[in-house]
Amino acid sequence: MQQTARPIPYFPAPRLQTFCSQCGSRLARRIPPDDTRMRDLCESCGAIHYQNPRMVVGTIPVWQDRVLLCKRAIEPRYGYWTLPAGFMELGETSADGARRETLEEAGLEIVPGALFSVIDVPQADQVHIFFLGQVADPTLAPGLETLEAHWVAEADIPWPEIAFRTVAVTLERFFADRRQGRFGVHYLALPPRP
Ligand SMILES: [Zn+2]
Repeated sequence: MQQTARPIPYFPAPRLQTFCSQCGSRLARRIPPDDTRMRDLCESCGAIHYQNPRMVVGTIPVWQDRVLLCKRAIEPRYGYWTLPAGFMELGETSADGARRETLEEAGLEIVPGALFSVIDVPQADQVHIFFLGQVADPTLAPGLETLEAHWVAEADIPWPEIAFRTVAVTLERFFADRRQGRFGVHYLALPPRP
């Protein structure tokens, strides 16, 4: 697995909330009856504010022998390279979200193809998934979150400057599968950093 030099922030979901989003009362934090985990409870209206992992969805756009990489114009990992990906929005499918993120970050229209990687990041309460992407027109028009976007051959991948471990792992598996002439679906859980 590709390792980079410094810890990578994944923007985990907030673990503490102060006020009830339904009635505005102050929340208590304790284990509800018939539950086994600490939750944010509203003792005024009875709401239990569950928190669950968030989905990050992206694509592996491929043009000829190259993949698309975007140089991030935002934190975390400003200036590092990534596949187009971002948080899934309410009301969309994971494939729609991956296509939207690709359009927003690279100005690239893509048809999401086969599911390629599903990577749990439990230390950040996230799940990252990437789809293979079919490209009809390779013209790129980077959006506000992207400094530059390029089609990059395997030999030119800037491994030490890849923004996230999930992206590095996805790229490694992609090139390994391509060498073997077949693409599988890769599920793995990212271990915490030592
Ligand atoms: Zn309440």
